[in-house]
Amino acid sequence: MTPDPKSHGDGTALFAELARVVAALAAQDGLRSFSLPYPREAQRALDRAVLHCLDRGRTPPRSLPELLSWCREHPAGGPLFRVPAALVSPGATLIDPVGHMPTRTCLEVASSGPEGRVEQEAVRLLAELAAACGSVDAYERCRRFLANRPAIGQRDRFAGREPWSTAVWNRVRHLYEAVPEALLHRRTLALCGTCGLPALAAREKPRASAARGGPDPSAVRGAPDPSTGHRPGRWCESEDCPPDVPFRLVRDPGHTLLLRRSLRVFLALPGPTEHAALAALDRAGAGHELIPAGLGMYRVTGAGPRVCFLRADDRREPALLAARVAASPEALDGPVLVVTPGPRAERDGYRAAFTAALRDTPVRAVLTTPEDLVRRARTLRVTPDAPDCPDAPNPPSGTETDHA
Ligand SMILES: [Zn+2]
Repeated sequence: MTPDPKSHGDGTALFAELARVVAALAAQDGLRSFSLPYPREAQRALDRAVLHCLDRGRTPPRSLPELLSWCREHPAGGPLFRVPAALVSPGATLIDPVGHMPTRTCLEVASSGPEGRVEQEAVRLLAELAAACGSVDAYERCRRFLANRPAIGQRDRFAGREPWSTAVWNRVRHLYEAVPEALLHRRTLALCGTCGLPALAAREKPRASAARGGPDPSAVRGAPDPSTGHRPGRWCESEDCPPDVPFRLVRDPGHTLLLRRSLRVFLALPGPTEHAALAALDRAGAGHELIPAGLGMYRVTGAGPRVCFLRADDRREPALLAARVAASPEALDGPVLVVTPGPRAERDGYRAAFTAALRDTPVRAVLTTPEDLVRRARTLRVTPDAPDCPDAPNPPSGTETDHA
């Protein structure tokens, strides 16, 4: 399967174009108010959406706000877009109905194909940082700082997994920005109590307990949508966090800085997964060395007779993840262990979609979890059919369907 959505029909191409527009508009002004003339790219997407509707006998959107309301209401697999389920989760929308922000699916779609831009921005920023650092060790410290600290307030300098480093901060502070207005509610910034990323409770009916930092009662009751995993009533950038963990409220957000959104989503979100994966390798006595390219990949030694690679990812769309893995140059040099959070990897259809998306590529990649990483590496090492390659047929338990 190609990662280029244009090859999947008009509706898919429109969905991808809207994803890029939504991501760009959200980065500039949020998604709340627009005046004429619209940004050129948004006007072009509106024109295409109108033609798309007229060709199908549907009522077209009359304005950019109406087009954006589509992006909250019409899922990828619905009759409007008909994006193939092999490419994007059918229930996913581009704008979260509670957060009124681009969904993670939106940002992943906006990073796919030759016109992709969000993940690409994160890669560019990291490449510039690596060049400025001059050494892999210095870059690794800076990258770890960014992954561990998606938001920085005054007191955060004394918290965190590692001690505050002024030298590192001076290198990375340009990658942080003031809290955008769109993330404030009543001049207060909410940070998710689990992932630490920006969060919002439902705007339409602000709940007293949520405003005080307590759990949103509707969210406690609400069950996640089975096709999207979304929970009603509250939103955080991870989209996956438990509903009963209180938000941390920052009432003076003028003293808080947020990591650039592309780095929050593509570096900080998978940070805990990467941390757990490296800890598992350490416990197993395997070596790992950061390759300062792309979002970051590790060369792993001691887990097989030849070098293999490891990358940690936390993506909602497995087919788009597979496409990004296949696009990394290292993937042609050796097998890649793609470590993803356990609950996501075990979600219905996730492994199968990842596997199917790599089927016709030369890339050898294994989807695994921090908990299963070492077992997978060891299983692969002893495979008699491929003694120099840690990719392998299914282990004896025979339940895995990773690409081989
Ligand atoms: Zn969260």
